[in-house]
Amino acid sequence: MELKNIKGIGPKTIEHLEKLGITNIEELLSYYPYRYQVIKLSNLNEVIESSGAIVGVIESNALIKYVKRNLNILSFQFLTNRKLIKVIIFNRSFLKRNLIIGKDLTLIGKYNPQTNTFIASDIKFKKLEKSMIEPKYHLNKEIKPSAFHKLIDIALKTDIEVLDYIPVYLNKTYDFLDKKLALKEIHHPTNPQLLKKAKLKFIYEELFVFMFKINYLKHKNSLNKEFLKRNINKQDINKFIDNLPFTLTSDQIKATDDIINDFNAPKRMNRLILGDVGSGKTIVSFIAIYANYLNNYQSVLMAPTEILAKQHYENILNIFKDYNLNIKLLVGNTKKKEKEAILEDVAQQKIDVLIGTHAVLNEELKFKNLGLVITDEQHRFGVNQRSSLQNKGQLVDVIYLSATPIPRTYALTLYGDMDTSMIKTKPKGRQEVVTDIKKESELKEVLTKVLEEVKLGHQIYVVAPAIEENEDMPTHDVNTLKEKFSKAFKGLVKIGVLHGKQKPKEKEQIMQDFLDKKYSILISTTVIEVGIDVKNATMMIVFNAERFGLATLHQLRGRVGRSNLASYCYLISNYEKERLEVLKNSNDGFYISQKDFELRGEGDLFGSKQSGDMVFKIANLSRDFKILKQAKVDSLKYLEEILKGNTSSTYYQNLIKEMDFID
Ligand code: ADP
Ligand code: MG
Repeated sequence: MELKNIKGIGPKTIEHLEKLGITNIEELLSYYPYRYQVIKLSNLNEVIESSGAIVGVIESNALIKYVKRNLNILSFQFLTNRKLIKVIIFNRSFLKRNLIIGKDLTLIGKYNPQTNTFIASDIKFKKLEKSMIEPKYHLNKEIKPSAFHKLIDIALKTDIEVLDYIPVYLNKTYDFLDKKLALKEIHHPTNPQLLKKAKLKFIYEELFVFMFKINYLKHKNSLNKEFLKRNINKQDINKFIDNLPFTLTSDQIKATDDIINDFNAPKRMNRLILGDVGSGKTIVSFIAIYANYLNNYQSVLMAPTEILAKQHYENILNIFKDYNLNIKLLVGNTKKKEKEAILEDVAQQKIDVLIGTHAVLNEELKFKNLGLVITDEQHRFGVNQRSSLQNKGQLVDVIYLSATPIPRTYALTLYGDMDTSMIKTKPKGRQEVVTDIKKESELKEVLTKVLEEVKLGHQIYVVAPAIEENEDMPTHDVNTLKEKFSKAFKGLVKIGVLHGKQKPKEKEQIMQDFLDKKYSILISTTVIEVGIDVKNATMMIVFNAERFGLATLHQLRGRVGRSNLASYCYLISNYEKERLEVLKNSNDGFYISQKDFELRGEGDLFGSKQSGDMVFKIANLSRDFKILKQAKVDSLKYLEEILKGNTSSTYYQNLIKEMDFID
């Protein structure tokens, strides 16, 4: 049901909800809490060691003390159970006007009897009658938690049919809760046991649908009885490899073998090359392009951005400078005339290789003899996009390159519809990026190092978790850091700023300018391209490193150390030293992502730029891996029953249709 048809939800609210990705009642109901807070009503003496909730009345006006930029303290007198205490709460100065003498409150926090002070972490503007489990949602500035709770209540009360995506027999097998009941419980928990059951149901449901899609893609691939005839002579390939400017690593050779074998086998290739940043996936894909060319087919290489496309283009021209391939670049700002020429030449197979953003497939390009499509950084292209190439009716082989190293067992499941090659070995002679963890108080040291590098003509990335200052999240932000760095270096150093609120064109320009050394320092959020290759960049500084997953930090670090220059990575953080040590001690993306799984769950699996349908609402791949495996088995059986016609489901049959016609 559309939101506008629900009484009590106005147009402004609908706009705000859209920003959270909620466009209908079903999405509203499946906007699950990301955590729960148990609010246990307690006496003062019960909240000394561990935190709890107390109720009482405000006895004085609230005072605010501003300690420093990121720290203010709000305090007031509070009467609880006939005892007068002092309450303090950090960084909530904005609550002052709501704190009126005589008002009832519930406070969550801890009590210090020596100073008779209660340090509150949260305030509820009502007197709780009993202990409760409070859901916490990821919301934005426009929608406050209390307002969101009301919306959820409206949705829960609206009389609609909620579809349960778990087949009836599986609901029975696992004794799952009824969906409506489970929805009520997940948003309004009544007790921990029932809440657990509700969560389990939704985790399973989500993973079941996900694995159903993967299973279906795999099934579809197996039906591809038509394939391109090839006959690739390994000796020709070896000759090409011998002429490369470097020796391939053993894993690069293995990946190359996998590809040649796929080519020669009577099937369509659908292969994922997984390898750390800098492990040398590109050259492997160039070898595939060469093999494809030897069999007289055309190739396309797609990158997620124009800059990356250009980098690939320059790179490939260099590798093939002694060969006869005609290679062209097609991007958004390719001149009209040139574009027309390319269209024509592609149609006549005068062009052998076309490099571009993935828009190239949507252009009116008509290849005469397309044989191979390579997409770089494939994690941007989710499950729903995976089969889009085959759906174009083209009989092509496909290679995906991904710099998101994930442990093999996970890869086999998440990418179960593809064959995978892993590149773990690193090219010889790479300098390891020296990684160090620094406290905020040690920043001077880091800045000195920055100046040294700048003086050497090298460039530096600085990353912060936020774009602008935000009261709710006292962390470093891009704008403030820009001011600070400008001041510190007295305007002597050119500093660029890059973040997600800029338009794509603007971002590309800034990145290009950095590449052209117009800035020495680039301060940004995590939007810096995964594959970008600025050889002159030798230092990466990440502020509030505790805010990022290890896999993201590792990928950020991969932006530097791309030449034989010594390179450095500073993780600035006052917290989580132990977790960050993993990065200090290892440079192996597969190991780091395994650790990340263990420590944080999959939240960070696909880096910070997750593609829509690989983000789970409630499931956590690490925590729920057993459920994922079960869902894989169950959904496969169910798919088989549907395909045999033994059972039918409008939802899943539509899903199959959608996957058959994905554009
Ligand atoms: P990624 O896997 O991140 O896409 P690239 O393919 O961009 O990595 O490779 C990073 C750099 O390493 C490139 O400059 C590439 O030319 C170089 N390179 C690749 N393989 C080797 C190798 N076997 N020996 C030395 N350098 C290599
Ligand atoms: Mg790459």
